[in-house]
Amino acid sequence: MLIDPEAYKKTNAGCVNNTIAHECVHWYKHRMYYRMQEYILPRLAKYCKCYVEQLPYSTEEEIILENHAIGIAPRILMPKNPFLEMAYTFNVGYGKDNRYAIAQLAEFFEVSKQSVTIRLEECGLL
Ligand SMILES: [Zn+2]
Repeated sequence: MLIDPEAYKKTNAGCVNNTIAHECVHWYKHRMYYRMQEYILPRLAKYCKCYVEQLPYSTEEEIILENHAIGIAPRILMPKNPFLEMAYTFNVGYGKDNRYAIAQLAEFFEVSKQSVTIRLEECGLL
């Protein structure tokens, strides 16, 4: 796995951890897609490459794989049951000012506050 050191500088440790989990999803779940492409469509075969911004020349399948990795990585870093347990510990609640709790959860799970917020919404707590 190669992560652009310039991209590293533009972000925080939580984003870096999310990127590592994201690339692990690609390696574990999607490597056979690229391996089979070498055999079936060698002319189109290429390596998996994620961009910080948009994917300018991705196929429809690659966009699906990318969204798959984007969706799974936070769930790996913040598994539902431990995440809910910690959210209740930090007294997260619908309609409350949860900024302090979100910061605490981000620190605990070593992810970004944005990632915590999205995960709280997915779990129905925000
Ligand atoms: Zn990706």
